[in-house]
Amino acid sequence: MTHPFLDLAPLSAARFASIEDRVARLLATEQDVVIMQGEALLPLEGAIRAAAGPGTTALNVITGPYGQTFGNWLRDCGATVYDLSVPYHTAVTADQVRAAFAEHPEIDFVSLVHAEAATGNTNPVAEIGEVVREQGALFYLDSVAAIGAEPVLPDAWGVDLCVIGAQKAMGGPAGVSAVSVSERAWERMAANPHAPRRSYLSLLDWKERWIDGGRRALLHAPAQLEMLALEACVERIEADGLDAVMARHRAAAAATRAGARALGGGLEPYVRQASEAAPVATTLRAPEGIAASDLVARALAGDGALPLAAGGGALAEEMIRVNHYGPDATREAVEASLVALGAALAECGAKPDVEAARRAVAEVWQ
Ligand SMILES: *Cc1c(COP(=O)(O)O)cnc(C)c1O
Repeated sequence: MTHPFLDLAPLSAARFASIEDRVARLLATEQDVVIMQGEALLPLEGAIRAAAGPGTTALNVITGPYGQTFGNWLRDCGATVYDLSVPYHTAVTADQVRAAFAEHPEIDFVSLVHAEAATGNTNPVAEIGEVVREQGALFYLDSVAAIGAEPVLPDAWGVDLCVIGAQKAMGGPAGVSAVSVSERAWERMAANPHAPRRSYLSLLDWKERWIDGGRRALLHAPAQLEMLALEACVERIEADGLDAVMARHRAAAAATRAGARALGGGLEPYVRQASEAAPVATTLRAPEGIAASDLVARALAGDGALPLAAGGGALAEEMIRVNHYGPDATREAVEASLVALGAALAECGAKPDVEAARRAVAEVWQ
């Protein structure tokens, strides 16, 4: 008996290249798309180490924990880094980015997280891209939590390095990821003596040995199961239609916000403006005096499969994450999450209105 996971024919270079082409179509990009054989942190770190060095002056936008990580990598590469931090309940604006360039005209690299599942905000990438292009800086974007939930358009927005992963709104595997690379970004890397070469982190290795060789020979054995899962998940998105998948995530976010407001009991959306709230996941603020981690533990005790989590680190006290992405971008998952949070709030002595929350979800989902 052959086993469906184990007894597979080797993944050919042609099949690998065709999966890259499908991912490129998802991003509507003419740029090179490299599929990296690891979780999204691999291209996120690889792209920074390749494109930034001691001569780089970077503007690092921080709207959540990933921005902090990118700033650490940039400093480790020897770059001069200016952090632009905004409170996690908002998004950054194009005017704030413009002001940073006015203060430090030598900025030649901008790193930005598109949407952040950990904080629930999303940033106006198209507007920020215009500012970055006016200034001629290289634009690095983490769209892992945006792809599948909202438009990701590196060519239209002038993004030079756009990283995606399949494990959030695409509903796919976590073990492979992709990055689109502009011609300018390749040139910056080639000119960087510190860029990783002959290394698992190296994007240049894929450029020189895979892309420039006509994508005929792979660098090493690919993560075959994950590649097949990525292909299947892109196929499913193509069949459903990317617009329909994004609409489902938008509806889940809107229903969660409206449902939480109707539920009451002191619960409210963490990101104050709906336009700054990410469609991939919705964060909620726990009521005064009740720890978010306690509410989530109570809600999960009733149903451990609900897409609920407390915020990471210091946010565990005040932030509840409703991770309504991928298979959980449904009315059922949103409603069940709010009902369970309602029960948890009642246990803690609050007075939530579960029926009002159900009605609000139903109304939004139309
Ligand atoms: C989820 C996410 C990633 C990938 O990280 P994992 O925690 O390993 O899934 C990267 N960047 C952002 C902004 C994310 O939300």
